[in-house]
Amino acid sequence: MYTLGIDIGSTTSKCVILKDGTEITATSMVVAGTGTKGPEEALKEVLEKAGITRESIGAAVATGYGRKLFTEADREISELSCHARGVHYIFPQVRTIIDIGGQDAKVLALNDQGRMANFLMNDKCAAGTGRFLDVMAGILQLEIGDLEKLAAQAESVAKISSTCTVFAESEVISQLAGGVETPDLVAGICQSVAARVASLAKRIGIREEVCMSGGVARNGGVRSAMEKELGVKIRYSPLAQLMGALGAALYGWDQADKGQGST
Ligand code: ADP
Repeated sequence: MYTLGIDIGSTTSKCVILKDGTEITATSMVVAGTGTKGPEEALKEVLEKAGITRESIGAAVATGYGRKLFTEADREISELSCHARGVHYIFPQVRTIIDIGGQDAKVLALNDQGRMANFLMNDKCAAGTGRFLDVMAGILQLEIGDLEKLAAQAESVAKISSTCTVFAESEVISQLAGGVETPDLVAGICQSVAARVASLAKRIGIREEVCMSGGVARNGGVRSAMEKELGVKIRYSPLAQLMGALGAALYGWDQADKGQGST
């Protein structure tokens, strides 16, 4: 039986189709989030990739910022629960999840059963979120996916001292004008995000193993800066941005298979 998880974020809509609660049959990601056609398109794409119709889905679970607006799902579950579930499935030994999305960052502490025991969130300030990186990539006229490669070429990491995105934007522009090399600036930008979120993680307390999820985890520049900030190894899966959708599809399997599931 197939189950669907759909994670409707602030910037990106993500889907995972699971077969029998174990096999990932298809995934999709559309860079358009809640309030757009993104969820609909992501659903269409994942069904096409899996070669099935909506009617073949035994249970569909929505998660993410826009989950309440998506009426096609059988139920909705918070993104905290879904991220915890998805990460625990891929990395059962993880006890701390650092999830950085398009407009917020969350740190989740998991218990030994992989359930969320505690969490802290920054959703008040763009610094320390994907938004900060998106804005900076725009200024530097780079694609978001290029930041990792450039950060790796840095010879000396530029210091971004402003903690506010708007001030940091002017700071980056003046450093560029002052002749600072783009790779050094990119590494400084990644470092700035990592430092902000690392302080959130330290407040909750780091228990190993530690994993990064969410779209920003795809940026190796942020991952390696985070490793330095926290002094631990960061677990990473190429499914990082899909962890919430994966968790939702797993909850769908509970519901389809056993007539239950829990938030
Ligand atoms: P949301 O659920 O809030 O939409 P996501 O977890 O999907 O957030 O993450 C979106 C963020 O991921 C974007 O703001 C962007 O900064 C980052 N991102 C997206 N694609 C990539 C990529 N290829 N490399 C690095 N970062 C990326």
